[in-house]
Amino acid sequence: MTYVTKSPWVIHYDGSSCNGCDIEVLACLTPMYDVERFGIINTGNPKHADVFLVTGSINEQNISVVRQIYEQMPEPKVVVAIGICATSGGVFRECYNIKGGVDTVIPVDVYVPGCAARPEAIIDGVVKGLGVLAEKKAAMNSALTAVSETENAEMESEPPIEIQVFGSGEAPGKEAEHE
Ligand code: SF4
Repeated sequence: MTYVTKSPWVIHYDGSSCNGCDIEVLACLTPMYDVERFGIINTGNPKHADVFLVTGSINEQNISVVRQIYEQMPEPKVVVAIGICATSGGVFRECYNIKGGVDTVIPVDVYVPGCAARPEAIIDGVVKGLGVLAEKKAAMNSALTAVSETENAEMESEPPIEIQVFGSGEAPGKEAEHE
């Protein structure tokens, strides 16, 4: 199990599922499966979310919604496609308005198979996603450290600022007051 230093917050969006996978996602939150034992919290606000759970395939109407939710989530973030519809278009793949799986519009980190995906598989997928989240966070931190080290090196190599000192020790114009 991935070690997490904070409670990961998940947001769930139903693309165009038959609701079978959504029921299984909700089952994960019940005392029977108790996904909260991993510290996972369900939120409705993308700006608070670390993990994006998507069920159902992508169609012409939900493309912009999926993109908007994804773009509003802060970095680092992870996307988990749940069920065969979200992973590839599934049984709706050949429909006139279906574009395909979630990865046709946003990057997907973990694919959870099944029709419907079982709660155990969903929880396993989310926990795998937490591992990806930790890797992305570590990569971001090392990139930030590299940038700040470069900035510090540039500041140290710049010539010092010359401070102009006036001969009398007074600001210009003060002489007039003494005359
Ligand atoms: S994978 Fe199956 S249960 Fe899940 S949304 Fe698609 S058709 Fe429904």
